[in-house]
Amino acid sequence: MSQFDVTIIGSGPGGYVSAIRCAQLGFKTAIIEKYSTLGGTCLNVGCIPSKALLASSHYYEELQHFADHGIEVSGEVKVNLEKMIARKQAVVDQTSGGVKFLMDKNNITVFNGVGSFESATSVKVTKADGSSEIIESKNIIIATGSKPSNLPFIQLDKDRIITSTEALKLKEVPKHLVIIGGGVIGIELGQVYLRLGAQVSVVEFMDRIIPGMDASLSKELTKVLKKQGMKFYTSHKVQSVERAGDVVTVKAENAKGEIITLEGDYSLVSVGRRPYTDGLNAEKAGVKVTDRGQIEVNDHLQTSASNVYAIGDVVRGAMLAHKAEEEGVMVAEILAGQKPHIDYNLIPGVVYTWPEVAAVGKTEEQLKADGVAYKAGSFPFKALGRARAGGDTDGFVKILADAKTDEVLGVHMIGARCADLIAEAVTAMEFRASAEDISRMSHAHPTFAEAIKEAALAATDNRALHV
Ligand SMILES: Cc1cc2nc3c(=O)[nH]c(=O)nc-3n(C[C@H](O)[C@H](O)[C@H](O)COP(=O)(O)OP(=O)(O)OC[C@H]3O[C@@H](n4cnc5c(N)ncnc54)[C@H](O)[C@@H]3O)c2cc1C
Repeated sequence: MSQFDVTIIGSGPGGYVSAIRCAQLGFKTAIIEKYSTLGGTCLNVGCIPSKALLASSHYYEELQHFADHGIEVSGEVKVNLEKMIARKQAVVDQTSGGVKFLMDKNNITVFNGVGSFESATSVKVTKADGSSEIIESKNIIIATGSKPSNLPFIQLDKDRIITSTEALKLKEVPKHLVIIGGGVIGIELGQVYLRLGAQVSVVEFMDRIIPGMDASLSKELTKVLKKQGMKFYTSHKVQSVERAGDVVTVKAENAKGEIITLEGDYSLVSVGRRPYTDGLNAEKAGVKVTDRGQIEVNDHLQTSASNVYAIGDVVRGAMLAHKAEEEGVMVAEILAGQKPHIDYNLIPGVVYTWPEVAAVGKTEEQLKADGVAYKAGSFPFKALGRARAGGDTDGFVKILADAKTDEVLGVHMIGARCADLIAEAVTAMEFRASAEDISRMSHAHPTFAEAIKEAALAATDNRALHV
C-alpha cells in the first residue's frame, strides 16, 4: 500500500499547482486524475483551448483589416476549421505534457484513475481497466473542479445541443449558433464562431451580458459585439430547446411575456458550471457537501474532516483557474505550518474577447449597494496614440477610488491587452495604492498602459492630460 504525506484528488490548476507547492515544501506527494491527461478543465477543455481558438479566429478577423494598413492580400482567404481545431489540440497536448513533466521533476507520484474516499486517510483509485489500489495519506486535498451546468428541461445531445466542451471541437462552422447564457464562456466562444462566419445570437436571462462585471463593461462589450454582428436577447428566459434533424429551435420569453423563436443549427448551453464530486464518496471521510454541491470549507479551506482540504471550483468563490492555483498554494503552505492569505477581492476577472475585458475589486454597483462614497475616473483608449497606431481604439479604463482616502477600490477596463494590463491594477491594490499613487508613476509612452495612468489622473482630480 502506498503512503503519502499529501494526496491531491484532481489535476486541474488547483490540484497540480498545489502538488508542486507541496513537493517544494518537502511533502511526499501524490496526485490522482481520472482522465489520461493532466491539467483538468482549464488545460483540456477550458482556458487553454478556448484561448487557442480565440487567437486563431482573431488572426482571421484581423486579416480583413490588413487593407487598412496598406497590406494587400491576394487570393481567397479561407478558414480550415479542422486544422484550426487540430492546432488547438496540439497546444493542449503540449501544455498537458508540460504538467506531466512538472510532476516528474518534482517527484510527485501520479495515479490515473477515479479517486474515492475509503476514510479520511485513505483513497481508493479505480483505474480504467477496473483494477484498483488504496493510497494512505496523512492529508488529502480535494481539487475535483466542476462540470458544465444545464437547465432541467434541456436535453444536451452533445452533437447540436452542446456545452463548451463540444464547442471547442466542432467539425463545421455553424450557420447560426444560438447561445444560451451571456456569461464569459458563452461570449468568448460566441466571438470565435462569429469571426469564423457564423450568425451568433445570445439569449440571456439577466438584463445584460457578463452580468457579474461592472455595468459599464457590459454596455461597452455589447456595443462592440453588436457592431461585429452578434445579436443579443437580454431579459429573455429560455423556455425550450428542441432539435429536429439539423435544426435546433430555441424558444424564450421576453420581459413583455412574448415568446420569441430562434432557429439555429447549433445551440451552445453556457449557463454556468457546477461543482463536481461524483464518485468521490466524500461522506466516507466525514466531508460535508453543501446544498449547492460544493465541498464545505472554512477560511483555511479545511473541510469538516480536519486533515482534508478542498480548493478551486469545487468550493465557494469565483470559478477561475488562478483562484484555484492560489488556493492550492495556500493549503500546501498551511500544511507546512505557514500563515498564507488570499484576498479574494483582488482576484481579477477577465473576458478574452477582443477587445478584452478585465476587472478587479469592487464594481460601481457594489459600492453603491454598500453605501461607499467613491469617485470615478475614466479614460478612453481612442485618446491614446498607441491605440490609434495599432487601430485598437475601442474601450476605456475606469478607476474607482474612495472619495475621502483616494484608495483604489476597483479597476474596470475594456480594450486591447486588458487581460495583461489588469495586473498593474492588482499590484496597485495589493499595496493599497491611491489613485494619485498610480497617477504619479511613469508609464512608458506610447503604451496601452497609459490609459491606467490617465484614468487615475481623472479619478484623482479630474485632470487627465489627453482628453
Ligand atoms: C471554456 C472554458 C474557458 C475557461 N476559461 C478560463 C479562463 O480563461 N481563465 C480562468 O481563470 N478560468 C477559465 N475557465 C475556468 C477554469 O477552467 C476553472 O476555474 C479551473 O479549471 C478550475 O480548476 P480546478 O483545479 O478547481 O478544477 P478542474 O480544472 O475542473 O480540474 C479538476 C480535475 O479533477 C479531476 N477529477 C474529478 N473528480 C475526480 C476523482 N474523483 N478522481 C480523480 N480525478 C478527478 C477531473 O477529471 C479534472 O481533471 C474556463 C472554463 C471553461 C469551461
